[in-house]
Amino acid sequence: MSTIFTKIINREIPAAIVYEDDSFIAFLDITQANPGHTLLCTKKEYPNIFELPIDILEKIFVITAKLAKAINIAFKPTGINILNNNGKAASQSVFHYHIHIIPRYDNDKIKIEWPDYSQTYLKDDLEKRANLIKSALL
Ligand code: AMP
Repeated sequence: MSTIFTKIINREIPAAIVYEDDSFIAFLDITQANPGHTLLCTKKEYPNIFELPIDILEKIFVITAKLAKAINIAFKPTGINILNNNGKAASQSVFHYHIHIIPRYDNDKIKIEWPDYSQTYLKDDLEKRANLIKSALL
């Protein structure tokens, strides 16, 4: 069964489209967490970042930056979040790859926060964690 975003790509359901090329489409997120909240989506149904082929990876941040600049001009926010959720635990709800571009304002209603454990771990722990990542880099 095709994803809700494929239905948008195929014009089976409506969306406010702001950008489209052979590989990507961008449209307004239906929630509009702030006005101009945009999703950049791959046309193919890759479920998450791990599945993206190199040619898509090479292009996607360039288009993300273009959209962020356009949103910055159009809405004049005081900040912009660029985020991508991968997996249910990371709040992904549509399993078709997309990046959120969200204009932000001082004291808006959006909450993106994580705990600060900087006082509780040892320098050695950081080195071990860094080494785990370094040894897994392909
Ligand atoms: P995520 O939780 O990162 O997977 O984000 C999925 C996003 O898709 C949510 O922010 C939804 O508001 C958005 N969304 C779901 N259905 C639609 C739709 N029909 N048109 C636009 N955005 C949608």
